[in-house]
Amino acid sequence: MFAAALAAGTALAATCVAAQDYPAQPITIVVPFSAGGPTDTVTRLVAQAMSEDLGQQVVVQNVGGAGGTLGAGQVAAAANDGYTLLLHHIGMSTAPALYQSLPFDPQTDFAPIGLVTNVPMTIVARRDFEPETMADLITHIQENGENITYANAGIGAASQLCGLLLMDALDTRMTEVPYQGTGPAMTDLLGGQIDMMCDQTTNTTSQILAGEIKAYAVTTPERVAALPDVPTAAEGGLENFELAIWHGLYAPAGTDPAIVERLTTSLQAALANETVAQSFADLGTYPVPADQATPDALAQTLAAQTELWAEVIAAAGVSAQ
Ligand code: ASP
Repeated sequence: MFAAALAAGTALAATCVAAQDYPAQPITIVVPFSAGGPTDTVTRLVAQAMSEDLGQQVVVQNVGGAGGTLGAGQVAAAANDGYTLLLHHIGMSTAPALYQSLPFDPQTDFAPIGLVTNVPMTIVARRDFEPETMADLITHIQENGENITYANAGIGAASQLCGLLLMDALDTRMTEVPYQGTGPAMTDLLGGQIDMMCDQTTNTTSQILAGEIKAYAVTTPERVAALPDVPTAAEGGLENFELAIWHGLYAPAGTDPAIVERLTTSLQAALANETVAQSFADLGTYPVPADQATPDALAQTLAAQTELWAEVIAAAGVSAQ
């Protein structure tokens, strides 16, 4: 018994030392989508500011595929030493209802660190797509349905959910083309190989402002400051079409609470960083307030959203293997 107590004491002491010295090596944040896309853009800005705060490099690793579930699964299975984290969005709350065999549980296999941002979506198309306004687009989709190609980042990605809501609202189907992230999908939209996409402002604002793609609507109740000329979906004739994509930062479950606390403080510092705030605003989004960048706020959002999306997804009858 004495030996067991001694071993437990030694292990505890080792953990405390690890937490005290943390971070003693570079930290990796896994983005479960391709480089150059909206989740990647948000993460790189936050990672840079966190690395300044932590005095250690914070490296971004892109692990795209299966609507974000591959990357999330990789972090769920990673060592819970605070050196492998995940930055994922709303897809954490939709995956349990969408994927029949999900190799992780978003609510029990992760230690939440905090919410990061809520990003509006934009309904966009290649520059020479015929419809000029949201009203034209609605008619065009209703008349052409599956002849229209629609890019997304796989089942459970924000781009897929937005398309799903759009198709349901118009009671029609388009042809969905999945990518590992909407970064590469944007390249095809710019090249005219694909017709449409619904994606976050963090991936579309600069192309919209440069006139390289057409924007029909934003999915928030108010217009987005960075895109003052783009109407809301409601202004464009699509009532009750609202979607903002929340993002959270997670560590694997069982991470030392002292390490989680240090990461939460660092996330809050990153979100208060002026460069981050300005870059977010230029991209049509804002950091969450400090009281939302907390483990409790993220855990509550994840639980509430998981319940909400389970109903929406069951009603829509969508699923993946
Ligand atoms: N977040 C995007 C989506 O859900 C994908 C990406 O970041 O590339 O569609």
